Amino acid sequence: MLNIVIFGAPGSGKGTQSENLIKKYNLAHISTGDVLRAEMKNGTELGKLAEGYISKGQLVPDEVVIDMLAKVLDEKIKAGASGVIFDGFPRTIPQGEALDKMLEARGEEVSAVVSLDVEEEELIERLLKRGQELGRSDDNYDTIKARLEVYNNQTSPLKEHYKKNEKLHAIHGMGKVEEIFDRIAEAIEKVKK
Ligand code: AMP
Repeated sequence: MLNIVIFGAPGSGKGTQSENLIKKYNLAHISTGDVLRAEMKNGTELGKLAEGYISKGQLVPDEVVIDMLAKVLDEKIKAGASGVIFDGFPRTIPQGEALDKMLEARGEEVSAVVSLDVEEEELIERLLKRGQELGRSDDNYDTIKARLEVYNNQTSPLKEHYKKNEKLHAIHGMGKVEEIFDRIAEAIEKVKK
């Protein structure tokens, strides 16, 4: 399987580029943010729990997200996925370690980590625009600031984890969507078996 982690700050283009990757490589998409938002919409226990964290820009606790991810991953494997794109997971070192173990237990591994690098000013601009267009409740200035801080403190250190095992592909994430995608595809072609 081709297992890609798409990595980057909120607003770096993970969702947009995931859609392009899915089309080109026929991958199953797992976005933990989308799964959590669906749970919130359906008013489940998990959704109610998640809402408190998401509205403050904080991370949902690791054990909750890891459990949730394992279930979704098994559904995708059962459905015959030829690869998976992990969008918004892992977001902490323990989540990264859990993903490695989870994949190993299924005879799989992370093929590549695509890290989208975008300047902070541009991230804020993109997220405020998305807030106006899509009305996502966590795309307001204060929550954006909190999410960027969480990214810098808790998520960004994961880059070292993937640098060590030579999985990290740093991609310049500014410019036209298609240009950025070309850079990503070039990196993926190198790891595709
Ligand atoms: P996203 O759609 O990926 O920007 O995620 C929106 C929000 O969902 C985040 O700000 C977190 O509160 C929560 N969330 C999504 N993925 C995770 C994760 N892997 N770990 C913890 N919280 C998450």
